[in-house]
Amino acid sequence: MSQFLNSKFSQLIPYTPGLQPTDKTFIKLNTNESPYPPPANVVEAVAKSAESLQLYPDPSATKLTQKLAETFGVSPKNILLGNGSDELLAYCFMALCENGAVFPDITYTFYNVWSELYGVEYKTISLRENFLLEITDYAKEEGTLFIPNPNAPTGIPISNKEIEILLQQNPNRLVVIDEAYADFGNTSAIPLLKKYTNLIVTGTFSKSRQMAGARLGWLVSSEEIINDLEKIHHSFNSYTVNRMTQAAGLASLDNEAYFSDCKEKIIATRDDVLQKLSDLGFAVTPSKTNFIFCKHSTISGETIYQNLYDAGILVRRWNAPKIKDWLRITVGTPKEMEQLLTELKKITDRT
Ligand SMILES: *Cc1c(COP(=O)(O)O)cnc(C)c1O
Repeated sequence: MSQFLNSKFSQLIPYTPGLQPTDKTFIKLNTNESPYPPPANVVEAVAKSAESLQLYPDPSATKLTQKLAETFGVSPKNILLGNGSDELLAYCFMALCENGAVFPDITYTFYNVWSELYGVEYKTISLRENFLLEITDYAKEEGTLFIPNPNAPTGIPISNKEIEILLQQNPNRLVVIDEAYADFGNTSAIPLLKKYTNLIVTGTFSKSRQMAGARLGWLVSSEEIINDLEKIHHSFNSYTVNRMTQAAGLASLDNEAYFSDCKEKIIATRDDVLQKLSDLGFAVTPSKTNFIFCKHSTISGETIYQNLYDAGILVRRWNAPKIKDWLRITVGTPKEMEQLLTELKKITDRT
């Protein structure tokens, strides 16, 4: 650490992104990217937009916001776009957590990092048996709630009925629903915005729209909250969504057929692999995402992780007490998952 870092950041522990190896080719099942490339019309739109790279992008991403508003059935005034949903979630921690932040003890590991970064007091609530989120556990909490739905890395969703109860528990408490994985078979909370003003819904083009490398996320909420966050956005960096990304996003929304096709393939592969993993002696959660969360009955998570790594397959594991034997495995192509299952069979056969 240099002598120049502000002392309040001396203890900051940053988020650890999943490995993006450059030295060796892996079957990469560790960061929940799409195994499918973007469609041709997105690639063409990016190339075309690059012809105007000498110009700044539209700071309000007007066309893309309009298109997304149509897709979601809301007004453009209800939408803010960001450099991945990570940027937008960071704004929520920065600006909308006067009474602190509250989230499950097992969840997206960026939430506590943002809390630390922005000096937000946070509290975690234990998930119940089988990683289930019990909404009554949040009834008395006053801090802004952050809930991925489905939750990550467990893959387990809660219903919109449960989200409504969270919203009703305290109308003066903000509830942020992080829908990074909602496209893979879960319902969106966006329609609830018609009834509730204490709701924010975020999502991303990274997981279900083959655009993790473009960095594009969205946040939907009341006009008042959007105005507040616009203020934060333009006090930080007006141009976080670059020209090529805006073009890519528009083209992606113009190609719903490709989007649905990839999504359906991933859901089918996921459900097939969930069954095969159970047959191999793994416990699995009922995932409604593009990843699987699993644990073998006798072999440690560390052993399986290492054996897969040595076989050229990268998955994700956290060294946290409650989930140290669990692995989060991104749903890849059927062929990649075939190779995964072959390796897992070898590992379980020899140990
Ligand atoms: C991936 C992910 C995000 C962030 O995605 P971006 O790539 O920044 O849009 C947010 N929340 C959860 C739970 C995620 O898994």
